[in-house]
Order: sequence, then C-alpha cells, then structure tokens
Amino acid sequence: MRHRYILAIDQGTTSCRAIVFDHQGRVVQLAQEEFTQFYPQPGWVEHDASEIWNVQLKVMQQAVKGIEVQEIAAIGITNQRETLVVWDKQTGNPVCPAIVWQCRRTASLCEQLREGGFETVVREKTGLLLDPYFTGTKLMWLLDNHDDIRGRAVKGELLAGTIDSWLIWKLTHGRNHVTDITNASRTSLFNIHQLTWDEELLELFHIPAQMLPEVKPSSGMMGVTDFLDGQTPIPISGVAGDQQAALFGQTCFDAGMAKNTYGTGCFLLMNTGRQPVASQNGLLTTVAWEIDGQVEYALEGSVFVAGAAIQWLRDGLGIVSDAGETEALATSVDDTCGVYFVPAFTGLGTPYWNAQARGMITGLTRGTQRAHLVRAALEAIAYQSLDVLSVMKQEAGIPLTELRVDGGAVRNNFLMQFQADLLGAQVTRPAVQETTALGAALLAGLSVGFWRDRQEIAGLWSVDRIFAPTMKEQDRLTKYAGWQSAVGYQAARN
Ligand code: ADP
Repeated sequence: MRHRYILAIDQGTTSCRAIVFDHQGRVVQLAQEEFTQFYPQPGWVEHDASEIWNVQLKVMQQAVKGIEVQEIAAIGITNQRETLVVWDKQTGNPVCPAIVWQCRRTASLCEQLREGGFETVVREKTGLLLDPYFTGTKLMWLLDNHDDIRGRAVKGELLAGTIDSWLIWKLTHGRNHVTDITNASRTSLFNIHQLTWDEELLELFHIPAQMLPEVKPSSGMMGVTDFLDGQTPIPISGVAGDQQAALFGQTCFDAGMAKNTYGTGCFLLMNTGRQPVASQNGLLTTVAWEIDGQVEYALEGSVFVAGAAIQWLRDGLGIVSDAGETEALATSVDDTCGVYFVPAFTGLGTPYWNAQARGMITGLTRGTQRAHLVRAALEAIAYQSLDVLSVMKQEAGIPLTELRVDGGAVRNNFLMQFQADLLGAQVTRPAVQETTALGAALLAGLSVGFWRDRQEIAGLWSVDRIFAPTMKEQDRLTKYAGWQSAVGYQAARN
C-alpha cells in the first residue's frame, strides 16, 4: 500500500496530541487530550508518566481512526523537554512521579553547585546554565533523596530518561532505551561538543551511567511500534524536543534563521549552523538537530511570561473576557499613553535571569484606561522578545532579516505588527501553525524517504501573512528606551 501519511506525536506540558500530516505537510486529522498537573508543594510540578503514556496512546489511536495504518510511513515524536521519568526495567512502571521542567525543587541544589564553582564547567560542556529547569539536578535530587532508588539504579534495575525516551520505550515494548540528541542536549549531562554523555558531569551529579538512554540522531530509526492497530509495524524515525521541532517545522534550515513561539511564554531559537556559539549574555547553546551525521546548533532564549500576561488580564484583573478581545482594544488607542507593563510574575528569563524580579506597571496617570493597559501587556511580549533577539543577533554575529512565528498569540495582528516594527525586520506567520508537530513529522518523514531532502520540505512551508516594519526609527528608539528603563528596575532587584 502507498504511504500517504506521517503521524506526529506531540507530548506537551499540559496535553497530549497526535496529528496526521499528509505529503504536503497539511494537517489531516488531530486528536488532543489534557492530563493531570500535580503541585505537591509550592514551586513543585509533577506529572504521572503512566497517565501520559495512556493518554498519548489514546490520542494516537484516535488520530488514525478511519485511516489505513499501512498508509502511515513513519511516526515522529516531539515532547516537553527536560522533564524526568525514572522507571523499572522489569515492570515498566515509573518508580516516582515525573519531575516536570517547571519544577523548582532543585533551586538550592543549583545554588550549592554554583557556590562550589561548577557553573563554568556545566556551561562550557552543555551550553546550559545551572538552573532547576534542566534534567541533571532533578535526577541528582531523586537519587540523593531516595536510597532505594539509588540502590536499584546502581544495580541496573531502573532506567531514566526524558519523555521521548519514556514513550519510545513503551511504544517498543521495552526494547529500545534511546533518546534523540536535542533532548539529550537539555539534560545538562550531555557534552554538546563531544556529543556523548559527559563522564565528569555524571560524576558531579552522581548519576549511574547505566540508567541513561543511548543518544540517537533526530532524524533516523529509533525503533518500531505496533501500537497503532496492535499488529502493523511502523518505524519511529524522527524525534526532537518541542522548541527544536518548531525550528525545524518553520524550516529554519540556514544559519541566522530564527523562530519565536508565542505561547504561555516565548521561546526564541536561532539556527547558528555547524558551530555552537557560546553566549556571554544568558542565552543557551543547544543542539538544533542531527541529520545525516551532521549536527547543527542553535542559540535559545526564553521569556517566561508572554501569553500568560494576557491570561492574567482576563483571570487576575478581569478587564478582558477573552484573549481574542485584546487586539481590538489595543488598536482602539494610539499608544499606551506612557504605560509600561513588565510581566515578571515568575522572575525574568533571558537575558536578565533574575528570579527575584516581579511584575510592575509604570507610567499610570488619571487618564489611563484599560485599553492602555491591554496594549502595554501586548507590547511587553514584543519588547521581551526584542531583548532576547538583540542579544542573539549580537552574539551570533548574524543580522536578522526575518522572524518566523508560531504559538497561540500569533493570531493577534497588532502584536505581530508591533513586533515587526520593534525589530525593524519582517515577521512571517506561516499557513500551518502546528509547527512543533510538523517539525517532528518532517524529521521522521525525511529519514524514511517520505520526503527527499530539506529543499523539498522547505517548499512545503508557506506564508499566511507577512508583517513588514513601518515604524519610524525615532519612535522605535524612544519606545524601547522606555521599556529598558522599566525592565531595568526589575532586572536589578535582589
Ligand atoms: P501553550 O502552548 O504555552 O499552552 P499556546 O500556544 O496554546 O500556549 O497559546 C496560548 C497563549 O496565547 C495564552 O497564554 C493566551 O493568553 C495567548 N493568546 C491566545 N490568543 C491570543 C490573542 N488573540 N492575543 C494575545 N494573546 C493570545
């Protein structure tokens, strides 16, 4: 039977999705279901890995309903990154709740390691910072706080991995304990220059190497699963962490091409080609993908609160009832009337990395109306993205000509236009906005010959709308200076 589809598994932080794509890269069928978030202590976030597996399996099977499974050429996986799962090799059950990327339980552990002078070695080898965000200290914490887990891990009874590893192990009936290189590059245990688990870091984090998966390319055979219909073997042939998958799905194949995902937060990635670029200003250096034996790298910056600021206007202040209203409100006024909103609810990410910073609104006058506040919240998303992109351009030494965008908030045309104006560069919104899942599908399809090469894939990507900059340079500078002065106040807090 002719191969007509690729199935993408998109295991996100709040929901499991499965999307069937056709040869043109169009969405054919989609299924999605949320799963439970656990907050056992302030700052802690956990998932039940068994629930994730069950929900993921269900949506996979739903997504292929009515489709001949034999017509699916391959499966690609993209996943929430950094989240840790530890499971029993014999029973296939997790031995504890999954520790989610957002979980801050290792903050003091990171602080101790920093005080011990280990930040430089971690940064040089992994491209990451010492932060609870990454997997290494999560696993260290687990092993150090549960004697039985360490004992069993040393005996070789337990396996550890990020969500991609967990799903592939399950999908292959426990045959394959693997991860892809982009997920490995987020663990702070993987040396992004030598492209291996790093012995010195495993020692520093007290991790038994036998728990860890084998690291594979992002586009290539990971295993075979028969779970779609209980009998047909389908190759799993592409895997990437969600942000790298989105970079690939946006076909940012050349150095200097960048994408920004506007969701709860913003994640900006710029392809830097075959050379890892070390950052002096709080960007992360990360593996973009490995294809045909060639590793390419990216610089990454994160803004913690973007669309979440709009949610706060809705749920916290109650001044809008739906995120979709914000565009009309923002354009009902000429400007913010001097109001700046710094939505540092959970601290500031790139380039400030200040966990003590908090939200702030400045420039209020008797004339301030809700439309000004709403506009200031949207503008803040663009200012924060500009903060990250300015550092990226400078460090990569590559001018930015275009920013490709995705995520829920790109529906807001005002935000996109303001972003283009601030950047002084074109903002491009693609026709298919499921870029994360598409990226996983493309990586998988490339490896099994469903698509020939990257050139063919680049031809699938098409534009919905281009936002070209129109703002006067002087206006741009004045507005940005106002933002810098507001955010500077929070960035300096301690
Ligand atoms: P995530 O994947 O992080 O859950 P999504 O990509 O689904 O996020 O985007 C949802 C976010 O986008 C929400 O924070 C929401 O406030 C924001 N959002 C949705 N529509 C709009 C809009 N029209 N204008 C501004 N923000 C929006």
